[in-house]
Amino acid sequence: MPACAVSRVNTMSQMLTIALTKGRILEETLPLLKAAGIEPLEDMEKSRKLVFPTNREDVRLLLLRGADVPTYVQFGAADMGISGKDTLMENGAEGLYEPLDLNIARCRLMTAGVKGQQTPAGRIRVATKYVNVTKQYYASLGRQIDVIKLYGAMELAPIMNLADEIVDIVDTGNTLRANGLEPREHIADISSRLIVNKASMKMKHLLIQAIIDPIAKAVSQKAVSQ
Ligand code: AMP
Repeated sequence: MPACAVSRVNTMSQMLTIALTKGRILEETLPLLKAAGIEPLEDMEKSRKLVFPTNREDVRLLLLRGADVPTYVQFGAADMGISGKDTLMENGAEGLYEPLDLNIARCRLMTAGVKGQQTPAGRIRVATKYVNVTKQYYASLGRQIDVIKLYGAMELAPIMNLADEIVDIVDTGNTLRANGLEPREHIADISSRLIVNKASMKMKHLLIQAIIDPIAKAVSQKAVSQ
Protein backbone atom coordinates (compact mmCIF):
# COMPACT_ATOMS: atom_id res chain seq x y z
CA MET A 1 0.00 0.00 0.00
CA PRO A 2 1.44 3.44 -0.87
CA ALA A 3 2.44 5.60 2.11
CA CYS A 4 -0.22 8.20 1.30
CA ALA A 5 -2.95 5.50 1.42
CA VAL A 6 -1.74 4.30 4.83
CA SER A 7 -1.81 7.79 6.29
CA ARG A 8 -5.33 8.33 4.89
CA VAL A 9 -6.57 5.14 6.58
CA ASN A 10 -5.02 6.26 9.86
CA THR A 11 -6.58 9.69 9.63
CA MET A 12 -10.00 8.22 8.82
CA SER A 13 -9.84 5.73 11.70
CA GLN A 14 -9.19 8.54 14.14
CA MET A 15 -12.14 10.57 12.88
CA LEU A 16 -14.82 10.67 15.53
CA THR A 17 -18.52 10.93 14.66
CA ILE A 18 -21.02 11.97 17.34
CA ALA A 19 -24.77 11.54 16.78
CA LEU A 20 -27.07 14.17 18.30
CA THR A 21 -30.77 15.04 18.24
CA LYS A 22 -32.43 18.32 17.25
CA GLY A 23 -34.47 20.43 19.65
CA ARG A 24 -34.40 21.04 23.37
CA ILE A 25 -31.88 18.30 24.05
CA LEU A 26 -29.43 19.81 21.55
CA GLU A 27 -29.56 23.12 23.43
CA GLU A 28 -28.51 21.36 26.61
CA THR A 29 -26.00 19.12 24.84
CA LEU A 30 -23.92 21.76 23.06
CA PRO A 31 -22.54 23.32 26.29
CA LEU A 32 -21.40 19.84 27.38
CA LEU A 33 -19.60 19.29 24.08
CA LYS A 34 -18.09 22.76 24.41
CA ALA A 35 -16.69 21.71 27.78
CA ALA A 36 -14.89 18.95 25.87
CA GLY A 37 -13.54 21.52 23.39
CA ILE A 38 -15.97 20.62 20.60
CA GLU A 39 -18.03 23.30 18.85
CA PRO A 40 -19.96 23.05 15.57
CA LEU A 41 -18.82 25.54 12.94
CA GLU A 42 -22.40 26.65 12.26
CA ASP A 43 -25.77 26.92 14.01
CA MET A 44 -27.08 23.36 13.95
CA GLU A 45 -30.68 24.37 14.77
CA LYS A 46 -30.94 26.74 11.81
CA SER A 47 -29.17 24.66 9.18
CA ARG A 48 -30.85 21.96 7.08
CA LYS A 49 -27.61 19.96 6.99
CA LEU A 50 -27.32 16.62 8.73
CA VAL A 51 -23.51 16.44 9.07
CA PHE A 52 -21.62 19.25 10.75
CA PRO A 53 -17.90 19.85 10.89
CA THR A 54 -16.55 21.21 14.18
CA ASN A 55 -13.64 23.33 15.33
CA ARG A 56 -11.79 20.01 15.63
CA GLU A 57 -10.79 18.46 12.34
CA ASP A 58 -11.14 14.98 13.82
CA VAL A 59 -14.69 15.40 15.15
CA ARG A 60 -17.95 15.76 13.24
CA LEU A 61 -21.53 15.86 14.45
CA LEU A 62 -24.65 14.21 13.00
CA LEU A 63 -28.15 15.52 13.56
CA LEU A 64 -30.66 12.65 13.68
CA ARG A 65 -34.12 11.79 14.90
CA GLY A 66 -33.86 10.70 18.53
CA ALA A 67 -35.01 7.16 17.85
CA ASP A 68 -32.25 6.71 15.24
CA VAL A 69 -29.29 7.71 17.43
CA PRO A 70 -28.80 4.27 19.09
CA THR A 71 -29.04 2.57 15.68
CA TYR A 72 -26.24 4.72 14.21
CA VAL A 73 -24.07 4.04 17.25
CA GLN A 74 -24.89 0.32 17.41
CA PHE A 75 -23.82 -0.19 13.80
CA GLY A 76 -20.74 2.00 14.19
CA ALA A 77 -21.96 4.62 11.69
CA ALA A 78 -21.41 6.99 14.62
CA ASP A 79 -18.83 6.36 17.35
CA MET A 80 -20.76 8.12 20.07
CA GLY A 81 -24.18 9.61 20.59
CA ILE A 82 -26.57 11.19 23.01
CA SER A 83 -29.80 9.34 23.50
CA GLY A 84 -32.74 9.33 25.91
CA LYS A 85 -32.88 6.39 28.29
CA ASP A 86 -36.45 5.78 27.06
CA THR A 87 -35.14 5.22 23.52
CA LEU A 88 -32.34 2.99 24.80
CA MET A 89 -34.78 0.91 26.85
CA GLU A 90 -37.06 0.51 23.85
CA ASN A 91 -34.33 -0.28 21.30
CA GLY A 92 -32.13 -2.43 23.48
CA ALA A 93 -28.50 -1.52 24.04
CA GLU A 94 -26.66 -4.26 22.16
CA GLY A 95 -23.25 -3.13 20.88
CA LEU A 96 -23.29 -0.03 23.06
CA TYR A 97 -21.69 1.25 26.22
CA GLU A 98 -23.59 3.79 28.29
CA PRO A 99 -20.76 5.41 30.25
CA LEU A 100 -22.43 8.60 31.39
CA ASP A 101 -25.79 9.89 32.61
CA LEU A 102 -25.84 13.49 31.36
CA ASN A 103 -28.57 14.41 33.80
CA ILE A 104 -30.41 16.43 31.14
CA ALA A 105 -33.95 16.08 29.72
CA ARG A 106 -35.01 14.39 32.94
CA CYS A 107 -38.52 12.98 33.05
CA ARG A 108 -40.40 9.80 33.97
CA LEU A 109 -41.86 6.98 31.92
CA MET A 110 -45.30 6.31 33.38
CA THR A 111 -48.62 4.66 32.84
CA ALA A 112 -51.63 6.98 32.78
CA GLY A 113 -55.39 6.70 32.41
CA VAL A 114 -58.57 8.75 32.54
CA LYS A 115 -58.78 10.70 35.81
CA GLY A 116 -60.94 9.03 38.42
CA GLN A 117 -61.70 6.06 36.20
CA GLN A 118 -60.60 2.63 37.39
CA THR A 119 -58.65 0.45 34.98
CA PRO A 120 -60.88 -2.52 34.09
CA ALA A 121 -59.90 -5.89 35.50
CA GLY A 122 -58.59 -8.49 33.03
CA ARG A 123 -56.99 -7.85 29.68
CA ILE A 124 -56.61 -4.17 28.85
CA ARG A 125 -55.50 -2.12 25.85
CA VAL A 126 -52.45 0.10 26.29
CA ALA A 127 -51.48 2.74 23.71
CA THR A 128 -47.84 3.77 23.45
CA LYS A 129 -44.87 4.33 21.20
CA TYR A 130 -42.80 2.25 23.66
CA VAL A 131 -44.11 -1.16 22.59
CA ASN A 132 -41.26 -3.29 23.97
CA VAL A 133 -40.95 -1.48 27.30
CA THR A 134 -44.74 -1.62 27.74
CA LYS A 135 -44.94 -5.37 27.06
CA GLN A 136 -42.07 -6.02 29.49
CA TYR A 137 -43.54 -3.79 32.20
CA TYR A 138 -47.05 -5.29 32.22
CA ALA A 139 -45.61 -8.80 31.88
CA SER A 140 -43.51 -8.13 34.99
CA LEU A 141 -46.77 -7.39 36.82
CA GLY A 142 -48.39 -10.52 35.39
CA ARG A 143 -50.99 -8.39 33.60
CA GLN A 144 -52.27 -9.28 30.15
CA ILE A 145 -52.46 -6.45 27.65
CA ASP A 146 -52.91 -5.68 23.99
CA VAL A 147 -50.46 -3.00 22.92
CA ILE A 148 -51.61 -0.38 20.43
CA LYS A 149 -48.67 1.32 18.74
CA LEU A 150 -49.10 5.07 18.29
CA TYR A 151 -46.62 7.64 17.01
CA GLY A 152 -47.83 10.69 18.96
CA ALA A 153 -50.66 12.32 20.93
CA MET A 154 -50.93 9.25 23.17
CA GLU A 155 -53.13 11.24 25.56
CA LEU A 156 -56.01 11.11 23.12
CA ALA A 157 -56.26 7.31 23.14
CA PRO A 158 -58.01 6.77 26.52
CA ILE A 159 -60.37 9.71 25.95
CA MET A 160 -61.47 8.31 22.61
CA ASN A 161 -61.78 4.78 24.05
CA LEU A 162 -58.98 3.50 21.86
CA ALA A 163 -57.10 2.33 24.94
CA ASP A 164 -57.63 1.86 28.69
CA GLU A 165 -54.18 3.21 29.58
CA ILE A 166 -51.17 4.78 27.94
CA VAL A 167 -47.45 4.54 28.59
CA ASP A 168 -45.69 7.83 27.94
CA ILE A 169 -43.13 10.36 29.08
CA VAL A 170 -44.29 12.65 31.89
CA ASP A 171 -42.40 15.76 32.95
CA THR A 172 -44.64 18.31 34.71
CA GLY A 173 -47.81 16.25 34.14
CA ASN A 174 -49.46 19.25 32.46
CA THR A 175 -50.11 17.42 29.19
CA LEU A 176 -51.88 14.60 31.04
CA ARG A 177 -53.95 16.99 33.13
CA ALA A 178 -54.91 19.13 30.13
CA ASN A 179 -56.38 16.02 28.54
CA GLY A 180 -58.28 14.71 31.56
CA LEU A 181 -55.73 12.01 32.40
CA GLU A 182 -53.81 11.16 35.57
CA PRO A 183 -50.39 9.58 36.02
CA ARG A 184 -50.54 6.11 37.60
CA GLU A 185 -47.51 3.84 37.81
CA HIS A 186 -43.89 4.91 37.56
CA ILE A 187 -41.97 2.66 35.15
CA ALA A 188 -38.55 4.35 35.00
CA ASP A 189 -36.65 7.59 35.54
CA ILE A 190 -35.45 8.92 32.19
CA SER A 191 -32.57 11.22 31.24
CA SER A 192 -30.18 11.63 28.33
CA ARG A 193 -27.20 9.27 28.23
CA LEU A 194 -23.89 9.38 26.46
CA ILE A 195 -23.53 6.18 24.44
CA VAL A 196 -20.45 4.74 22.74
CA ASN A 197 -20.07 2.02 20.12
CA LYS A 198 -18.25 -0.92 21.74
CA ALA A 199 -15.74 -1.37 18.91
CA SER A 200 -15.02 2.38 18.78
CA MET A 201 -14.41 2.37 22.52
CA LYS A 202 -11.60 -0.15 21.91
CA MET A 203 -10.19 1.30 18.70
CA LYS A 204 -10.40 5.00 19.60
CA HIS A 205 -10.14 4.71 23.35
CA LEU A 206 -7.88 7.71 24.04
CA LEU A 207 -9.83 10.01 21.76
CA ILE A 208 -13.17 8.98 23.28
CA GLN A 209 -12.03 9.00 26.89
CA ALA A 210 -10.63 12.52 26.37
CA ILE A 211 -14.18 13.58 25.47
CA ILE A 212 -16.01 11.61 28.18
CA ASP A 213 -13.85 12.94 31.04
CA PRO A 214 -14.48 16.69 30.59
CA ILE A 215 -18.17 16.05 29.89
CA ALA A 216 -18.42 14.02 33.12
CA LYS A 217 -16.74 16.89 34.96
CA ALA A 218 -19.13 19.46 33.46
CA VAL A 219 -22.13 17.29 34.40
CA SER A 220 -21.02 16.96 38.03
CA GLN A 221 -20.18 20.68 38.30
CA LYS A 222 -23.65 21.51 36.95
CA ALA A 223 -25.24 19.15 39.50
CA VAL A 224 -23.37 20.88 42.36
CA SER A 225 -24.41 24.37 41.21
CA GLN A 226 -28.12 23.39 40.91
P1 AMP B 1 -45.36 17.43 30.56
O1 AMP B 1 -46.66 18.04 30.09
O2 AMP B 1 -44.43 18.44 31.14
O3 AMP B 1 -45.60 16.26 31.51
O4 AMP B 1 -44.62 16.87 29.28
C1 AMP B 1 -45.13 15.76 28.64
C2 AMP B 1 -44.81 15.69 27.16
O5 AMP B 1 -43.63 16.43 26.83
C3 AMP B 1 -44.58 14.25 26.80
O6 AMP B 1 -45.71 13.77 26.15
C4 AMP B 1 -43.37 14.27 25.93
O7 AMP B 1 -43.78 14.19 24.59
C5 AMP B 1 -42.70 15.60 26.15
N1 AMP B 1 -41.50 15.53 26.99
C6 AMP B 1 -41.31 16.14 28.18
N2 AMP B 1 -40.08 15.90 28.66
C7 AMP B 1 -39.47 15.12 27.76
C8 AMP B 1 -38.17 14.53 27.67
N3 AMP B 1 -37.25 14.70 28.61
N4 AMP B 1 -37.89 13.75 26.61
C9 AMP B 1 -38.81 13.56 25.65
N5 AMP B 1 -40.05 14.09 25.66
C10 AMP B 1 -40.38 14.87 26.69
